[in-house]
Amino acid sequence: MKSLQQEKSLQREKSLQREESESRQPGRPHIEHAYFEDFLAARGLAPPRRDVVRTLQLNIGLRCNLACHHCHVESGPDRHEAMARHGAERVLELLEANPQVEVLDITGGAPELNEHFRFLVRGARALSRRVIDRCNLTVFYEPGQEDTAKFLAEHEVEVVASLPCYTLENVEAQRGRGVFGRSIEALQWLNRLGYGRAGSPLRLDLVYNPGGPHLPPETGELEARYRSELQEHFGIDFDHLITITNMPIKRFAHDLERAGKEAEYMALLANHFNPATLDGLMCRSMVSVDYEGRLYDCDFNQALGIGIAAGGRTIWDVDDLSRLTGGPIATARHCLGCTAGAGSSCAGALVEFPAAGTEAEAETMPA
Ligand code: SF4
Ligand code: SF4
Repeated sequence: MKSLQQEKSLQREKSLQREESESRQPGRPHIEHAYFEDFLAARGLAPPRRDVVRTLQLNIGLRCNLACHHCHVESGPDRHEAMARHGAERVLELLEANPQVEVLDITGGAPELNEHFRFLVRGARALSRRVIDRCNLTVFYEPGQEDTAKFLAEHEVEVVASLPCYTLENVEAQRGRGVFGRSIEALQWLNRLGYGRAGSPLRLDLVYNPGGPHLPPETGELEARYRSELQEHFGIDFDHLITITNMPIKRFAHDLERAGKEAEYMALLANHFNPATLDGLMCRSMVSVDYEGRLYDCDFNQALGIGIAAGGRTIWDVDDLSRLTGGPIATARHCLGCTAGAGSSCAGALVEFPAAGTEAEAETMPA
């Protein structure tokens, strides 16, 4: 029997899928692979090349208990794609064979819903790697997930938790009704386990993304605001705030198109291009893996089906990831999302804010 929240999520997912298929019309622009390289060349800049792979980012499945507006992988309760056991085993083999890879960064969907999530966590921790769980917080209240928070703490998994604002209105506008209250309770739960507390080894970072077609505000100021609001109203502690730019792909791109704001948003990104972000692009030091073991230069390329440029199509085709070093990266128009203003990555901004003129275009947070 489905809960009211699950029913609502299902309805929302169906409506999003319907809207998406309606928005796919013949002749729509396809991915422009040369766009970003041409954009850089026009500014006398070379395309980014790969550095040493330090992070393996794994999307272990698309099932999620939520169906957020901005979701770039279009996850939801109706998605059932998931990494199988043999894929998880191969990922651990790759980790073992590549000691330069320091981090296993696990995402989804809600990664905890994959039945092999704990196998992967235990395996990577046994290999002394940092493990990140990109967690939507509300998953802790799903059936069968009652001890997930405790499991994460026992294995010192770093939790990167989505919380796009410190107000109920803004969170629920993006993520659905009831999400804010459960997110707050989940954060309090993590705090009780030691996450985010001063001096604790259990790291808890929060993720902010703008509610609309804006750039994120300056991280330091926003982090201070989050800290004071969450501490004052809910007694919540956390380590750092990660600010992420909304990528102009998938659900967010469809929202922009429906609102007639796609060109405006792309112009915003292009006008705030910041060459200082290029050195820190996450695709230089990451390999992204999908639930079927295919390789990509980043999670956004994965969402768009743009395979890794440097060779090796799946986790079964590569053994030594150091062979990728110095190789090319598959870029396209959406890469402007990583290079605008202070830049953006799964670890947050890439350089100091502000790049000239960014403040005026950044999202204004509620007082
Ligand atoms: S919680 Fe994350 S994976 Fe799930 S729908 Fe929202 S953005 Fe997508
Ligand atoms: S979207 Fe960002 S991380 Fe991905 S290839 Fe482009 S610049 Fe790199």
